[in-house]
Amino acid sequence: MKTRPHSKRPGPRREELAPGECLCDHCTGRCCRYFSLPIDNPATWNDYDSIRWYLAHGRTLIYVEKKQWYLLVMTRCTYLTDDDRCRIYLNRPKVCREYTTDRCEYDGEWTFDKVFETPEQLWEYAEAVLPPRRPKHAKQAFKLPIVSC
Ligand code: SF4
Ligand code: SF4
Repeated sequence: MKTRPHSKRPGPRREELAPGECLCDHCTGRCCRYFSLPIDNPATWNDYDSIRWYLAHGRTLIYVEKKQWYLLVMTRCTYLTDDDRCRIYLNRPKVCREYTTDRCEYDGEWTFDKVFETPEQLWEYAEAVLPPRRPKHAKQAFKLPIVSC
């Protein structure tokens, strides 16, 4: 990741880099401005309802890659400096040390198998893949005593 000062201008394409040049030196630290975590794949209305809550907070995405669901939170790492370098480069977390420029998001937008940006998008998808919800009052109505005249 970021080891040297670099310009904030749109950088060169990765294939234009000179031998030994570091792609991160031309980047605004895009991989340091979010994190994502795998979540349980939803299977029920309750599951979708929980995920809907994540999306209700804004600056979040739900995406699916290779059948695994993820929560992505767009939030800048506290160690990213104003000139887009890592303040703790030599002591950065393992997840950062293992991340490489090989397939990073330097030159592309995120592309996922599925992505949901709003609760409404997610709900629309749930309605398409799940059986219809039982009305909340259905169970209660079933328990009502039968009154004869
Ligand atoms: S997105 Fe890629 S080029 Fe940019 S800082 Fe992260 S690893 Fe480096
Ligand atoms: S610790 Fe450093 S490399 Fe890791 S996300 Fe934060 S700024 Fe980026």
